[in-house]
Amino acid sequence: MPPHILIVEDEPDIQRLLEINLTREGYRVTVCGSGKQAWEKLAASLPDLVLLDLMLPDLSGVELCRRARADARLAELPILMLTARGDEIDRVVGFSVGADDYVTKPFLIRELLLRVRAILRRRAAAPADEDRLDAGTLSVDAAVGKAWVAGAEVPLTPQELRLVALMMRQRGRVVTRETLRAQVWGEDDPVSLSAVESSVKRLRRKLGAAGDNIETLRGVGYRLRAEG
Ligand code: CA
Repeated sequence: MPPHILIVEDEPDIQRLLEINLTREGYRVTVCGSGKQAWEKLAASLPDLVLLDLMLPDLSGVELCRRARADARLAELPILMLTARGDEIDRVVGFSVGADDYVTKPFLIRELLLRVRAILRRRAAAPADEDRLDAGTLSVDAAVGKAWVAGAEVPLTPQELRLVALMMRQRGRVVTRETLRAQVWGEDDPVSLSAVESSVKRLRRKLGAAGDNIETLRGVGYRLRAEG
């Protein structure tokens, strides 16, 4: 299956230029002319890369990129930004909201195709990120220390994050209170087993419905349900 590219561009000429050339290169291409439309398309299916114009009639490219990065599902989506303006400010803004690369209009189509290829190759070569964990509606990125339930970020303390990440890595298996204590608090910060239990209780509450998937084996430990 060739890579799928979503083009988000409101200028018909540039839209057409991109569509023709990317299709000719063998990519599957979807085109849309507004940020809102793009957001709907992203909700429906995930492309391999987004070519995103900065200036759009409704939702700007910057805002769309920012939203994508805040959403667990779209956080890693490759985004190549396009803009009519070449100033440094735009470039900085683009990268600060999480764009992978940046091309200034007017651009040479050959250069753009090279950038597209480079991003796709980089993504394909990246090793599976073991810090990204998913269990049902629950997602954790241990590297950046964030957790989401159904795409909405849940603020967790570093300890709660380590607790949930450990249970997710051991999903379906029982993790004892002693194991949690050793791996989450460490030998240097000894806590009682009842403190471990209180932390899990707090964690479960913060996770809402997703927290119901943490089963308690009284006096032993916990298990994150294999399904759900
Ligand atoms: Ca535009």
